[in-house]
Amino acid sequence: MKKHNEMKLDLHIHSCFSDGGEEWDYAKIVNEAVKNSVELISITDHDVATDVILLKKHCMGTGVSFLTGAEFSSMLNGNSHDILGYGFDWHNDAIIKLMDSNLIHQAVSYNQKEDFWIELLIEAGYLIDWKEWTMFEGGAKPSPGNQFKLKILSFLIQKGICRDREDYFDRLYPITSGTPFTKLPTFPHPSEVIKVIKTAGGIPVLAHPVWRYNKLPLTDTLDLFKDLEIEGIECYRSDFNNETSNVCRQFCESNNLIITAGSDHHGTTNDDKKIGSPAITINECNLGVLMDKIIYY
Ligand SMILES: [Zn+2]
Repeated sequence: MKKHNEMKLDLHIHSCFSDGGEEWDYAKIVNEAVKNSVELISITDHDVATDVILLKKHCMGTGVSFLTGAEFSSMLNGNSHDILGYGFDWHNDAIIKLMDSNLIHQAVSYNQKEDFWIELLIEAGYLIDWKEWTMFEGGAKPSPGNQFKLKILSFLIQKGICRDREDYFDRLYPITSGTPFTKLPTFPHPSEVIKVIKTAGGIPVLAHPVWRYNKLPLTDTLDLFKDLEIEGIECYRSDFNNETSNVCRQFCESNNLIITAGSDHHGTTNDDKKIGSPAITINECNLGVLMDKIIYY
């Protein structure tokens, strides 16, 4: 077995249990990790804990080890902050309550978003009956694998307004893109999420300190989360340049915080976020107490 610190890792991967793409079940994720020589993974679905029994089954005999995890949504002053929780007890009452309530918020905001998209298509001249849309079955439901389900696609195909998925994304999606939320979902304050992860024995790590739904400058975000007693920062990401990673890394080194890396893989639609990208090994991170939580197979 390789020395731990030479293992390539990816601690931020989404599966079919959130918005990772329907075909991306654990088997496909582990296969892809093996293909890309990634030996330590974490499946961090939105407000859905890793199914440990299932993941163990797929990792067995592959040389892939894992950390259990989830990515929790939180909101503060109109900014959205996602917090990765690793190695928590998924039977803990507080964590179950947090996941359940976030799943409801997610499903509601997804449905609202699609309502707004339909309004935009009507404004753009498409002949859509609003009542027919609201009566149409399907759409996001507050349960793992269903919280991000698109209703708009099957509706528009059934109505003959678009041909298929490709046609939808080519022609209709651009009309609605850039308008992701009509009303921001009411996720909890980040301090609440951090507290619950710690209560359940987990390690909270700030995901993507820079991203489109957080308008704060990077250094303000880092200072804020240090004050909120976060334990680590995702410093290496497929969508970060060297400068951003360096600022994050230096901040972690000065404040004794855990340093992690992840692709934020969301299925094949986003090739630049493929599993194991960026190529980072354990010794280029600082996993600290997370090292004790790795489940080896
Ligand atoms: Zn993510």
